[in-house]
Amino acid sequence: MSALEIYQFNCRSDNFGVLIHDPDIGITASIDAPDENAINEALDQKGWTLSHVLLTHHHFDHVEANIALKQKWGAIIVGNQADQDRIPGIDIGVACGQHFDFGTHKAKFIDTPGHTIGHVAIYFADQKLLFTGDTMFALGCGRVFEGTAEQMHKSLSVLAALPDDTVVYCGHEYTLANAGFAMTIDPENSALVERVAQIKALRADKLPTLPTSIGQEKSTNPFLRVDDARIRQRLNMENASDVDVFAEIRRRKDEF
Ligand SMILES: [Zn+2]
Repeated sequence: MSALEIYQFNCRSDNFGVLIHDPDIGITASIDAPDENAINEALDQKGWTLSHVLLTHHHFDHVEANIALKQKWGAIIVGNQADQDRIPGIDIGVACGQHFDFGTHKAKFIDTPGHTIGHVAIYFADQKLLFTGDTMFALGCGRVFEGTAEQMHKSLSVLAALPDDTVVYCGHEYTLANAGFAMTIDPENSALVERVAQIKALRADKLPTLPTSIGQEKSTNPFLRVDDARIRQRLNMENASDVDVFAEIRRRKDEF
């Protein structure tokens, strides 16, 4: 069994497109469907044929190309069964906690409500590969539009419990703005300071800051560090619950 090949590209204003390709079988999935033309161009560049679209959530900038990709390629649209009424063109609904067989690889649909109620992360355990959509970003997390802070905190905790060397792809290039905010919450964290310098250098060259890893996020992403003593002290929340600390950091980010 060969490793999945990954191709990440920019599209829309700040979305990432990602193609995953199983070279043994010759199938290719798009993670979300943000932009028909950008996805078709990426497929052309790689010489791959689109077989599937695997969706993290129903927002417009993640599903807009579903129908067009289905028409052009006959791609099979796969999403969270519980949210199928909101996913255009869905062919296969996968229950949270269950796997979708992508060729010889198993894609686990992990329930990650918060940004939306039906949001899932897509996890290939055998490849140590995770697609977090708009739940976790590099140095950040998605806005809590539909769920509660408690749900979002739990969703992030589930992802943070995956192995440190899990490679993480996210839905947007928000890292530079997230870095500026993270420095207001955790400025004495030397791992964060070092990472922010790397991010600034990458963005100055217009290079992507993704993928990241679970280990890197655990050491630098303030939304995964709500139990950190220095952060709690800075927020004056030494004795607060993890959820309350998370909610406060999210509230500050919303106003940042
Ligand atoms: Zn979204």
